[in-house]
Amino acid sequence: MTPEEFRHHGHQLIDLIADYRARVAERPVRPPVAPGAVRARLPVAPPARPEAFEHVYRDVHDIILPGLTHWQHPAFFGYFPANAELSSVLGDTLSSGLGVIGLSWQSSPALTELEEVVTDWMRQMVGLSGAWSGVIQDTASTATLVALLCARERASDFPLAGGGLQGAAAPLAIYHSADAHSSVVKAALLAGFGRENLRAIATDENHGLRADALAAAIAADRARGITPGAIVATTGTTTSAALDPIAAIAAIARKHGIWLHVDAAMAGAAMILPECRWMWDGIEGADSLVLNAHKWLGVVFDCSLYFVRDPRHLVRVMSTNPSYLQSGVDAQVKNFRDWGIPLGRRFRALKLWCLIREQGVEELAARLRRDLANAQWLAAEVRAARASGWRVLAPVHLQTVCVRHEPAGLAGETLDEHTLAWVERINASGAAYLTPALLDGRWMVRVAIGGLQTERTHVDALWKLMRAEAERAG
Ligand SMILES: *Cc1c(COP(=O)(O)O)cnc(C)c1O
Repeated sequence: MTPEEFRHHGHQLIDLIADYRARVAERPVRPPVAPGAVRARLPVAPPARPEAFEHVYRDVHDIILPGLTHWQHPAFFGYFPANAELSSVLGDTLSSGLGVIGLSWQSSPALTELEEVVTDWMRQMVGLSGAWSGVIQDTASTATLVALLCARERASDFPLAGGGLQGAAAPLAIYHSADAHSSVVKAALLAGFGRENLRAIATDENHGLRADALAAAIAADRARGITPGAIVATTGTTTSAALDPIAAIAAIARKHGIWLHVDAAMAGAAMILPECRWMWDGIEGADSLVLNAHKWLGVVFDCSLYFVRDPRHLVRVMSTNPSYLQSGVDAQVKNFRDWGIPLGRRFRALKLWCLIREQGVEELAARLRRDLANAQWLAAEVRAARASGWRVLAPVHLQTVCVRHEPAGLAGETLDEHTLAWVERINASGAAYLTPALLDGRWMVRVAIGGLQTERTHVDALWKLMRAEAERAG
């Protein structure tokens, strides 16, 4: 494609995206497609000869768009908000269009230096001290894996330079809340700790990790000759947006010299609001933390910020220095290849930079406050409907409201069937999208508020729909 052809098709593409966003609310949130239906409409073999690019757009309209679950829909209340502010979409498009890659500072100086600047902007925005250094990773899953690799190396005196974990004298244990994200367990397994050495610590009635149970588990391991390898605490769990007590956990970590990683993938965005920072009180006592700019904050996926207090240790664990990547300025610059797993680095900083500049911190904060208020409003409505069997199941500090409809006479599995049935009726209708989850072993419904276009009217319409579907007889 020549630049002139790109100009022509590119204008069409921008129109396509703008039209899609402007009218996304008219589509069913979840598409009425059966498994395999999209694939059945696509050719099995690739075209041997060039096709007109218009044909690609035609298929996007006819086959792809009707086969999507629309995350940017104002009635999308599933999983977590994954906002893609259009200013960040421009930044992402620019990154693709420039086609540069950061292997080293020299391979694209502005790529590295803009990333240094915007990660430091984010550090300031969420109220972290100057003791933290940031880098952009693709996802929180990767950042947590990096954290556990760094913890492993610190806890056992750098075994990767020798026999690795296979040469270790004592096993290393990892501590996390029973409600931690699945990526934490996955990272621990991939980092070689072994399932036997993972400790899922009990939570309290608000679903936060119990610091006393953590201390007891560490003591029990040490008595058996097992070395504590790392603690992973969560600010804003996925199931219920619960808050682990970071200050108490940090005190335990400090006492025993254990690495503390904080997973604030979802809730980290809320820390741009000073009134929310109590939720991770004690954060300065952590060794590493991750927050996803690609969730509630609004940067189009993927953009995870990983902050560390000891970048030299990170680089020591992650560095590679082949001759073809060395340059005369290495002593004066950051080479972000040594701050994570992949060698190649996309210019992700652009989309974060575009978002922050176009919105300003104040606009971002105002939107998050709107969503927090909508969550409080819904929680109050649900509590007020107690006589009809509605319950709010967990404290509502953020934008997630955990609810259940518990009609008289239903309990245990019949209650689970009722819950899953009314959620599926809503999802199948296309009018809204919710994701149920298990809390304390019973199904409940998470209402994850926070879409860019989600206003009070959408939350109100959802609540009416929930009542209609759950309270309808039989
Ligand atoms: C979303 C989320 C993750 C996973 O994030 P990815 O960036 O998709 O890997 C991990 N932990 C928490 C608490 C999350 O909310």
